[in-house]
Amino acid sequence: MLQFDNRFLRELPGDPERRNEPRQVFGACWSPVDPTPVAAPRLLAYSREVAAALDLDEAAMQTPEMVAALAGNALLPGMVTYASCYGGHQFGQWAGQLGDGRAILLGEVINRRQQRFELQLKGAGPTPYSRRADGRAVLRSSIREFLCSEAMHHLGVPTTRALSLVGTGESVVRDMFYDGHPVAEPGAVVCRVAPSFTRFGHFELLAARGERGLLQRLVDFTIARDFPTLHSDPEQGGLGLWFSEICERTARLMVHWMRVGFVHGVMNTDNMSILGLTIDYGPYGWVDNFDPGWTPNTTDASSRRYCFARQPAIARWNLERLADALARLVPRTDELAAALERYDEIYAAEFCAAFAGKLGLRAWRHDDAELLEDLFELMRQAEIDMTEFFRSLARLDIEQPHLDVVLGACYRDDLRQRYSTGLTRWLARYAARLRQDGEAVATRTARMNAANPRFVLRNYLAQQAIDHAEQGDTQMIHHLLEVLRRPYDEQAGREAFSAKRPDWARHRAGCSMLSCSS
Ligand code: AMP
Ligand code: MG
Repeated sequence: MLQFDNRFLRELPGDPERRNEPRQVFGACWSPVDPTPVAAPRLLAYSREVAAALDLDEAAMQTPEMVAALAGNALLPGMVTYASCYGGHQFGQWAGQLGDGRAILLGEVINRRQQRFELQLKGAGPTPYSRRADGRAVLRSSIREFLCSEAMHHLGVPTTRALSLVGTGESVVRDMFYDGHPVAEPGAVVCRVAPSFTRFGHFELLAARGERGLLQRLVDFTIARDFPTLHSDPEQGGLGLWFSEICERTARLMVHWMRVGFVHGVMNTDNMSILGLTIDYGPYGWVDNFDPGWTPNTTDASSRRYCFARQPAIARWNLERLADALARLVPRTDELAAALERYDEIYAAEFCAAFAGKLGLRAWRHDDAELLEDLFELMRQAEIDMTEFFRSLARLDIEQPHLDVVLGACYRDDLRQRYSTGLTRWLARYAARLRQDGEAVATRTARMNAANPRFVLRNYLAQQAIDHAEQGDTQMIHHLLEVLRRPYDEQAGREAFSAKRPDWARHRAGCSMLSCSS
């Protein structure tokens, strides 16, 4: 049985109103709200690792009571449901109150190892923060969130997790590209799990409204509950150190995204986790052909604010907005400024360490930056698949480097021919650099294979799983979940799941183009 200990509710003020209508909520961090029951809930998939973390075995996951709870149709003992209040900067502009518009918290579970997890249903119906929307989620976006949360975790990227994917038996109407073509789609609910779902925007909203006392309370609460090591050390309890920790975690997260080729797509400050987790999987995507300017989000296609290469700078901008909010609580802001500089330092150092790993270098040297920059430029021009290229690089014979090992990463014959001389030259330079390290092949290969995944949730794979599931066949969801458990291992017989993007997927909706409307 799940043990609940709902500190967020207990220690922070709630909204005295119960009216479940769109409205502004002042003086409170959360609003009580009941999930809206669905017609015919069906458990389509669950993550056994997340279940295990909650001390739930397979049988416990399948009981009618559990499935009903995961659909928002019933509560388990100890569950209390609420939506939290936050704001945010969206696409660079202050957007005011946003809040959990289609996420409903179920409380905080304490497992046998005394670890704390917030449980949250995404798509369980409207809340006071739903504005003009319906509080629901479609199956396609729920599959994407479910699979990618788990894939990211297994890649070693900090992320919120997904316990379950439940089909609702109801349809949800969406105009996928906001072009006047609404379609009824199957609905779903994902149960997300994280130590904390607190976002930068929780603090920003209180600061923007001048609710200084409540802002201080939320900061104190967050440090105490979500940063217990900082909290228990009286020397380290200060706001500056806490913000520095957030900057550091965010920097590490950005390096991971750049390392694995993940593009979040909507890095608004309401989608930034205080714990440095990847949060809110919407129109995200994985880089196929290496393109720094690529974004999967059609809503952002013209300005490309959230494209692949800009993510680290945007995270820094978002941290600055959080610093603006926290500045209301401290007389001097030099500590906050120092923490932001720490972001730059950690990002630079970790980026070099990560790419040293990807290239198999023993340690990053100053002049390696040029080698890497030249590679990026070649990969961009020659339209080379990022995942396939880095993975195959480990097979290069550095005594006799040959183009063959990386050719499979090229998408276009004409570009392969045009850039073959450039690539050959680069590989020769690279091999010479590795020879200077004088390391055993096995040592280098192991380092590279631990940094370069064989399997990522390629956009077209997720879309195939969605296409099948929409026809009632969920097998591919299970296959992908299985393969993505061990992304760094060669998995014999599963080569199809590492194939680079097929031609049909190049411009297909869902594969390279997504919108926020999910
Ligand atoms: P996003 O950028 O998708 O994370 O969402 C921004 C804001 O819109 C958040 O406050 C969400 O809760 C809200 N939102 C997004 N989709 C819906 C929906 N279908 N129903 C209600 N609120 C939504
Ligand atoms: Mg969001």
